[in-house]
Parts: sequence; C-alpha cells; structure tokens
Amino acid sequence: MSRPELTWRNKDENKKMELDQEKIRVGVSTCLLGENVRFDGGHKKNDYVLHTLSDFFEWVPVCPEVDIGLGTPRESLRLVGDAGNPRFVTGKSNIDHTEKMVSYSDRKVEELQKLNLNGYILKKDSPSCGMERVRVYDESGMPNRKGVGIFARALMERMPLLPVEEEGRLNDLKLRENFIVRVFCHYRWQKIALGNFSVNALVQFHTQHKFLLMAHSEKHLRELGRLVADAKKYPPRKLKEKYVTRFFEALRRKSTHRKHTNVLQHILGYFKKDIDDRDRHELLQTIEEYRQGLLPLIVPITLIKHYVNKFDVQYIKDQVYLNPHPKELMLLNHV
Ligand code: SF4
Repeated sequence: MSRPELTWRNKDENKKMELDQEKIRVGVSTCLLGENVRFDGGHKKNDYVLHTLSDFFEWVPVCPEVDIGLGTPRESLRLVGDAGNPRFVTGKSNIDHTEKMVSYSDRKVEELQKLNLNGYILKKDSPSCGMERVRVYDESGMPNRKGVGIFARALMERMPLLPVEEEGRLNDLKLRENFIVRVFCHYRWQKIALGNFSVNALVQFHTQHKFLLMAHSEKHLRELGRLVADAKKYPPRKLKEKYVTRFFEALRRKSTHRKHTNVLQHILGYFKKDIDDRDRHELLQTIEEYRQGLLPLIVPITLIKHYVNKFDVQYIKDQVYLNPHPKELMLLNHV
C-alpha cells in the first residue's frame, strides 16, 4: 500500500487520513508501552507514547535484555569501566554480559535497518537503552553520568540520521516538538528516497521544506539550496546522502522565537499586497507578540493560514512549515 501525503488541513482530510493512512513506523523500548519486561517484573508505561503518539505511530518494540535471554524478573545490570567502551554486568553477582549484548545489538540494529523506521524512543537511564547520561561505575563503585546504553549506542551509530529521543526528554515540549517534526520529515524523505527518486522529486521536497529549514538554520537552507541547484552534477546515491545528512543536521538545530519570527515575516511578504492595512497591522502585531513570548506559535500560524487560503497563495500552502505534524498533537501550542 502506498502511503498518502501527510498534511493535516481540515477535519474531513483528518478523517480520510484515519481511514487510509498506514501509520509511521517508530522503534520503542518495550517497557514504555506498559509491558512487564523490566528487571523488577514491572514496566515504565509512558502515557504520551501509549495514548497520544499511538494514534499516528506503529510501534516496533524492542527489549534488548529480554531478547538476550536474561528473563523477567532478573538481576539489575549496570555499565562499568570506561564510559566509551563499558562492560555490561549484573549489579550484585558481577556476571559479564557485554559480549552477548554487543553482538545482539549489532544483529538487532541490522534487522531494524530493513524495517524503514522513522524514529526511535528510548527509555532513559538504562544500561541497554539509555541515550545519554547513563551511569557508568568505576572500579571503586563510584558512578559518573557519561554513559550510553549498549543497544542505544549501536542504534545511533549505525542509523545516525534516524530521529532518536528519550522518553524523559519528551517531557520538554520544545524537544518533543523537534523530535516529532524530524520523525514526520524522515517519513516524507523516506517516501522519495525509497520511491522513484529523481532530481525533480528532490526539488519538490526541498521547496516544500524551505521555511521549515529556515526556522532551524538559514545557513543549512542556503547550502541545501546550492546542492539542489547543482543536483545534476552528482550520482543519485551521492546526492541523496549529501542532501539528507545536511537536512537532518539542520533540523537538529534549535528553532527559536527569533528564527520563527523571521520566517513568519518572510511568509507575510507573499501576500502583503493583497491584505488591507488594518489586517496587516493586526498580523504584524500578532507576530510581534509571538516574538516577545506572549503568544504561542500556533496563533500567528493560524492567522497566516487563513490569509494564505483566502488569497490562494499556492507556494505557501504547500509549505510543510504550516502543517509540520498533525494538529491533534497540538505541538505548536507550546513553542
Ligand atoms: S529499558 Fe530497555 S532493556 Fe530495560 S526493560 Fe526497558 S526495553 Fe527492556
């Protein structure tokens, strides 16, 4: 089944999407789905993952510790030694499972690479799944927070463009929005990269993401623009690799109120001759109040969408920036 375009504009289209859309495939630490796979026989159910994101994502759950046969419940494990290359051992009996976990992680990531994932949500602090700041104990038993879970490290090293985030960090609404934007962009990219890739398809992709890129990094936007202009100089595989690497590098840069304000003013330029003085003043005032942090981004975006539809500004209507993710997730209400 081919996947439909992911834009959310009105209720009827949402309904159509619910009926037609194949969900976006995202990996997840199994315990976050409420499965009793933790060392103590319990789970770490995450309501946002389970009840909100599940409407849009199809989960690919992975529990590395269960997969290597440690059973549930089991003795807890920890990282010991060099943070860059730690051993993976049981806390009390000091049994070393490093080799087993490292070779499992390599095999599992290879398997996941074939599943066309578009993101991954990891359980924080875990010696297997933690993305950062995992405790690593030295020989005297003192911990530092410099570790990365063994499986998480393999995942991030072998799939460096995959949007990866920890459940704990998803409580930060800006990090959450950034992660979800990247997941949806990854999904759209995958559609053209795995489909009939062509220079025209790349030009269209780049054009639709122009203002989204601008909201993260103008420097990257300029570089990617030059790359697209020179696209015919590169073999397709090289072109894809160069483009997508810089594209996701850009999206990992934080968007700020100042950058969004710049984008909103640019967009206004596309219909400023059509709008009357009173409405233009009101829109500029709304953008200024957003810049000052008095209003969330959804307010100027909603007003702009109104005018873009009213004046039928097709180039802006097509911009992902105005509909980066489903409005039901309400992510623009908090940035
Ligand atoms: S953190 Fe990872 S290894 Fe630990 S229970 Fe959850 S999924 Fe399994």
